[in-house]
Amino acid sequence: MAKKSKSKKLVIGIDLGGTNVVAVLVDTSGKVKSYVHFPNESAKGPEHVIRNIADNVKALVKKSGLAMKDIWRAGIGSPGPLDSKKGIIMGAVNLPGWTRVLLKASLEKQLGVGVGVDNDANCAAYGEQWVGAAKGASNVVGITLGTGVGGGIIIDNKLVRGANYNAAEIGHTSLNPDGRLCKCGAKGCLEQYASASAIAESAREAIRKGASSMMTEFVKGDISKITSKTVYEAMVQNDKTAVVVWDEFIKYLAAGVANQINGLNPEVVVIAGGVINAGDRLFKPLKEAVRKQTFALTFSAAKIVPAKLGELAGAIGAAGVVINEGEFYNLK
Ligand SMILES: [Zn+2]
Repeated sequence: MAKKSKSKKLVIGIDLGGTNVVAVLVDTSGKVKSYVHFPNESAKGPEHVIRNIADNVKALVKKSGLAMKDIWRAGIGSPGPLDSKKGIIMGAVNLPGWTRVLLKASLEKQLGVGVGVDNDANCAAYGEQWVGAAKGASNVVGITLGTGVGGGIIIDNKLVRGANYNAAEIGHTSLNPDGRLCKCGAKGCLEQYASASAIAESAREAIRKGASSMMTEFVKGDISKITSKTVYEAMVQNDKTAVVVWDEFIKYLAAGVANQINGLNPEVVVIAGGVINAGDRLFKPLKEAVRKQTFALTFSAAKIVPAKLGELAGAIGAAGVVINEGEFYNLK
């Protein structure tokens, strides 16, 4: 029988998040045929999580009228640190018990197809570069603002992994060596000022110090309920405290973006996460602040744009890297 041409092949992409898992079935052009999302059930430990993923992937394939033999490869994005060459998760902060987990080997056994494992933020950036907001650009930086700040870098159409595969931790680039203590043990990481959680924490901190704000009323006095959205909603109504917090957030994010632009001279910087719903209130001042901290020529090359793929970015990107960079993962 003739070998299937690459263009007819189907691939599974999986994004293992701190709470949920997203799995997509895509063709080799990145077109999504179907997808599913489900809770990761991480409290039950890694073995259960992997079995749960395999069961859901098999169900997705079956529901699409296919069998696992129709699937060429699978890719999975996971929180790190990890060894993407061997497909081993070294220790994921938000996944209890995930120390030296042989994710590639276990998933390959259960799915019966070759599997590539990579960092979740790398996969999200790759997805946006492959078929999303940065499609057509060869040099791309992706920054995701969520509970933390994730980063992914693509240079000359290739994912940048680094010496032992943990490059692009943009969230842990230092903006202030004397600043807020980060989960990683260092001080003043970008993540401590520009994540969605950090925006909320900055607002709480200001209110605890006595600042008056409509945010307190928004959450009926329970400031633990303040989120980045609360800050945004108060900011658009010109709440003084919220405006200060928002401006601080933009200032730090801009410094983080400028560092990447000065270091890498990308064509596109893609910003992802719920915060991008702020639209012009985010992107206008962000671009203006980045402009002031970069060389005019480098800045002129770099578009700063919102992500397009939403919650599917990581899963689509995980499929993309195993399609386009299969050799790295030793996939046939
Ligand atoms: Zn850090």
